[in-house]
Amino acid sequence: MSGPEGAQEVRAGAPDPLHDRLTSYAGRPAATAGTGKDPVNAPMIRHWCEAMGDTSPAYQGPDAVAPPTMLQAWTMGGLTGHPHGTGRSAAYDELLGLLDGAGYTAVVATDCEQEYLRPLRPGDLITFDAVIESVSRRKTTKLGTGYFVTTRMDVRADGEPAGTHRFRILKYRPGRRPTQRKAPLRPRPVINRDNAGFWAGVAEHRLLIQRCSDCATLRFPWLPGCNACAGQEWDTVEASGEGTVFSHVVMHHPSFLAFDPSGEGGPYAVALIELAEDVRIVGNVVGVPYDKVRVGLPVRLEFLRTDPDLELPVFRAGEGG
Ligand code: ZN
Repeated sequence: MSGPEGAQEVRAGAPDPLHDRLTSYAGRPAATAGTGKDPVNAPMIRHWCEAMGDTSPAYQGPDAVAPPTMLQAWTMGGLTGHPHGTGRSAAYDELLGLLDGAGYTAVVATDCEQEYLRPLRPGDLITFDAVIESVSRRKTTKLGTGYFVTTRMDVRADGEPAGTHRFRILKYRPGRRPTQRKAPLRPRPVINRDNAGFWAGVAEHRLLIQRCSDCATLRFPWLPGCNACAGQEWDTVEASGEGTVFSHVVMHHPSFLAFDPSGEGGPYAVALIELAEDVRIVGNVVGVPYDKVRVGLPVRLEFLRTDPDLELPVFRAGEGG
């Protein structure tokens, strides 16, 4: 998820009575005595691994554990529940109500952090409590001015501490739309500690693929660990730049000016490119109209400056495409 980078404090030190009221909620429960809808179970683990393309043997067979990143999944309330799961507290509702009442009516999830204390196995019964950890000072972001609210959920498995899930939202007052709209820009990539090396490569016009130091498996997109052997050490190899279109879709709706090379908000193709190194990357195909993109089309990497602050890897259709 996108982080709160770029948020600016509004006149640090200026009186902010609302902030004082909001911070009085720090330390109060956000959810109490929550219980997982289902125990940790093999079908959910299997669906998750299929969706993520994670083939690690650790998540299969009689001794399977759950992928640690599923931590939150076991606490979720389902389609009719709240993302914080069951048992949301009156204090948390009050806190959000205060923000709504002051005009900070919009909400966006900004980031989450997890810590894993013990593996989860099928049959584990999940219980959890969540606490309102902190409320930021008032900040101005591109979305509008508001407050970041951080909650921390402590998850237990059969009563033992299993992990923590720290979740941050921005409650904000939506900014007014400018009357004169500038030409829209491509959305900025979210750069974090797990993918910073990839974007550093792009800045040097190199498309870097991660390689596991233990088993040499190549991986893309960038991840903190190896899906094949769970190794955490890695280096990189530079893609040769040769590839073919493995799959593609054409976006017709909604129209989005920034993505259409003609700038008219018309259809555009999004392709999944299979690189010569046998990993795949999502990108735009350039040099050919959207309706001429086809599976198997040979393409070659190049870097496109979409605006003064952004360069992206794109793929130019080969001769006779
Ligand atoms: Zn490996």
